[in-house]
Amino acid sequence: MTVTEYKAQVLLVEDEPSIADNVIFALQMDGFRTNHQLLAAAGLEQLKSDDFDLAIIDVGLPDFNGFELCKKIRQFSNIPIIFLTARSDEIDRILGLELGADDYVTKPFSPRELSTRVKTILRRASSQPAPQQTELLEIDNKRAAINFQGHKLELTRIEYLLLSKLIQRPEQVFSREQLMQAAWENPEHSLDRAVDTHIKSIRAKLKKIDSEQQLIKTHRGLGYSLELNR
Ligand code: CA
Repeated sequence: MTVTEYKAQVLLVEDEPSIADNVIFALQMDGFRTNHQLLAAAGLEQLKSDDFDLAIIDVGLPDFNGFELCKKIRQFSNIPIIFLTARSDEIDRILGLELGADDYVTKPFSPRELSTRVKTILRRASSQPAPQQTELLEIDNKRAAINFQGHKLELTRIEYLLLSKLIQRPEQVFSREQLMQAAWENPEHSLDRAVDTHIKSIRAKLKKIDSEQQLIKTHRGLGYSLELNR
């Protein structure tokens, strides 16, 4: 297995090209992969079909505003979100708890400062302890194996890659498309149903060790997540 350095991917939804260009430049200078969308709807689609570590969302977007976009995202993802805002009344709403944003930046802002905030949030996210994860499911990278409650799971290569993907981000819903990207050499040749079949097999193997567990949750029409707090 070749080891490539993981580069976090950031989605930017911003309708002003000059601002977007500066942000993208600063993020790329800091080693991030980036994807830029001008419209809220396009940003939402992008988030559903690709893997992102963080989203930066302008509040004032032409099709629907950043708050609406955030609410839609929160229905299927707990990805960190930073808002870009120009107005103080927007800040009041961001600070209101219901949106679940991680941070905000007021325009005009320094793109480098924004990129620093991105780094801080991602560092915080990755250092959050997940105590149950190590007890319950443990990835053994060296042996390409996964242990469940201390027992080694007999997984095929694809099952190993699928389950590893889910373990990386407990509670996050992954679409079938995202799971295929993670596990298949040529995902375009596979059917969505293939993911379902492999998930079924993984569940059966988990059940052999603990018949009570319901670790992998199906989200109808969206995909799968790993639920540790059940
Ligand atoms: Ca705008």
